[in-house]
Amino acid sequence: MYDLRITGGTVFDASQDLAAPADVLVQDGQVAAVGADLPGEARRTLDATGRYVTPGLVDLHTHVYWGVSHYGIVADETCLPRGVTTAVDAGSAGAGTFPGLRRYVIEQQRTRLYAFLHVALAGMFAQEVGESADERLLDVDRAIATVEANRDVIVGVKIRQTDRLVGSLGTRPLRDAIRVAETTDLPVMLHIGNTPVPLEDLLALLRPGDIVTHSFRGAVRDGLLDPDGRVRPGVLEARERGIKFDIGHGSGSFSFDSAERLLAQGFLPDTISSDLHHYSVTGPVYDLANVLSKFLFLGLSLEQVFARATLAPTQAVTLADGLGTLGTGAPADVAIWELRDEAVTFMDCLGHTREAMRQLEPVAVIQGGQVVRSELE
Ligand SMILES: [Zn+2]
Repeated sequence: MYDLRITGGTVFDASQDLAAPADVLVQDGQVAAVGADLPGEARRTLDATGRYVTPGLVDLHTHVYWGVSHYGIVADETCLPRGVTTAVDAGSAGAGTFPGLRRYVIEQQRTRLYAFLHVALAGMFAQEVGESADERLLDVDRAIATVEANRDVIVGVKIRQTDRLVGSLGTRPLRDAIRVAETTDLPVMLHIGNTPVPLEDLLALLRPGDIVTHSFRGAVRDGLLDPDGRVRPGVLEARERGIKFDIGHGSGSFSFDSAERLLAQGFLPDTISSDLHHYSVTGPVYDLANVLSKFLFLGLSLEQVFARATLAPTQAVTLADGLGTLGTGAPADVAIWELRDEAVTFMDCLGHTREAMRQLEPVAVIQGGQVVRSELE
């Protein structure tokens, strides 16, 4: 007797190259089988007919340190019910504030949580002060020690390389982040935007496997596009070298104009993340599903958007085995989606809008085999 059968849906699992009608069987919190005409009784059945079934989404860029970072939101209110069963905090905490993120958030929330450690001691602590602008807050050794003590949940090193946030320190914060990442064998996540040095100089410092977030922001000076709207040669070179480009929509880092130009030149993001935080959760992001729906509108296929928010993030950072997949024995984290045919106005971070006719809506969420919420039965 299985615990759960999800039946009748179209299953998308990039790890198995699967996009076809199939059932999902769950037993003891794990995926027992995925396929058509699977025999066996189940205690509970969710009828997903006409819906899409995916691994629970993995959001590579969120901010979930509520109450300590001014960006913080509560993962169990804004991620899990919206189909994101795993979220990665992108640098809300540095070595000085990480113990609290671990004890009071990661270990308490039901959403599976991981983190990029900010290279600066206090992490993203105040709107008014650049977190990496004071060299007293840059302590490579403490960052390394914090990674070593928390390897089960720290999956990378974060740096926001923006004028205001690094002050007069130039590229030192990024170079420090790379030193921490090199020593601990982790990727760096680099936040771009209003950089004090040309973007291509920053990219040249990155190593294969490092991640650029806010890739599709609107910018003249330092976006991925040059002033003529062409992808900068240094960006193509960086991708060639194995540097990954993440979305991180947020409240200031996604532009429809940039996205349309980049996609027209065949430059697709490697991962699609939300940068969900206090200033984006009430719009223009709301949730990761909104960002995926925007990319559907922009012409990506369902396979492409689901892959970039399930398997791809697990290839960018190392998470527990099986997350982001529906492989046999993987944690039974599943999201069920309706693609609703309804008029919707999508807004980017510049206030530009697009009128679309469909959007993804999560109608059921399963985590570790438990039905977290369901509009189905
Ligand atoms: Zn962020």
